Amino acid sequence: MPVLTIEEKNQLKLERLQSTLNRAFKNVPFHRKRLGIYNLMPDDIVSLKELEKLPLMKRAHLGDHYPYGLFAVPLRDIVRIHTAPGTGANPSISGYTRADLMIWQKLVARSLEAAGVTSMDILQINLPPGLANWGRDYKDGAEAMGAGVIPNSPLSLAKTVMVLRDYKTTALVTTSAFAEQLTEYMFDNEINPNELNLKRIVLVGEPVPESKIECLRDHLHVDVWLNYGLSEIPGPAIAFECGCGGMHINDDHILPEIIDPVTLETLPPGQKGELVLTTLSARAFPLIRFRTGDMARFIAKPCECGSPLIKMEWLPGRSDDMMVISGIKISHSQVKAYLKDALGVERPDCTMEKRRYGGTEFLSIALVIDESLFSDEIKNLERLMIHTGESLAEQIGVAVKITLTEKYQSFPDN
Ligand SMILES: [Zn+2]
Repeated sequence: MPVLTIEEKNQLKLERLQSTLNRAFKNVPFHRKRLGIYNLMPDDIVSLKELEKLPLMKRAHLGDHYPYGLFAVPLRDIVRIHTAPGTGANPSISGYTRADLMIWQKLVARSLEAAGVTSMDILQINLPPGLANWGRDYKDGAEAMGAGVIPNSPLSLAKTVMVLRDYKTTALVTTSAFAEQLTEYMFDNEINPNELNLKRIVLVGEPVPESKIECLRDHLHVDVWLNYGLSEIPGPAIAFECGCGGMHINDDHILPEIIDPVTLETLPPGQKGELVLTTLSARAFPLIRFRTGDMARFIAKPCECGSPLIKMEWLPGRSDDMMVISGIKISHSQVKAYLKDALGVERPDCTMEKRRYGGTEFLSIALVIDESLFSDEIKNLERLMIHTGESLAEQIGVAVKITLTEKYQSFPDN
């Protein structure tokens, strides 16, 4: 395949962008209306820089158009439908044509190849229920490369280690939270990492500090590779590490921008801001200037690996109200909306925090007891809290524990 010059690459991206805008404008009333508000037509965007003229999309827009309002193709062309937790009462639904799935398969394979995965590998996937969609994408991508795949299934730590050992797994796709649990379990049970064939771990879901990566390398004797993804598009391999520091973004299919989350202005390379993504090839579910809430900065220097793909550094922290638990993004406002529905009254005083118990991350919610929750039967109240926690966990894909407090209480650091 001929290597494209920067100009040719940018021309290709511009053509894909124009085609995406035309498709979205023609088929999705939401996009048509918003371009109309700005008095813009797709043909007005004649350079990549002019993408800045277009309005930004937020997560809330996805739930507002539940279930199929943002699809740009008829339902008969959809071959897969994914659900992700939204930011309000509705989940986010995304759809894929057969061609879309082929592209995601290619992008996942690209990220796995960069991590050194080959057709000789046995790749095991261990992702929490909230990231099950990504499990399917990694399975498809790895199978397309010819690797042997052990698909995602919820296993205990003991079973996970048994499969790692007996099936001679060489590559593991998981979250940093699970990788940490695995390390602790192996240490506690005196399992020598050399009993395993594991060579590499691909981590997804959240940025991981270098200290944690070092710890995994030292304790599990593996290479660690970070992938960046969004559950809304999805997928899981929007950006990936190549081994030279930073992450390559698959910008031939997803165009990135960094904006100031307050002024919403586009920032130049090197400046820290919020990552905004525009899909260039997604047919069923185009996203135009979608605010991810993730913080990043572009790395302008060409990469030593020779890849022409744009590079970024994925930074900790968020520009929105979401927290990341076991790699899954949870919206404070969504949880509050859920509690309001479940309890019949708004709970502005509830506090939420990510906590760990026995190595497992969960969402801890503290509610203040007042007359709106008062019950002469304390058992009824406890039952209500357990039921509410279980239903919420089912909706957001992570474990939830709700506790009652007598007055506002902040959690101690631990
Ligand atoms: Zn590189």
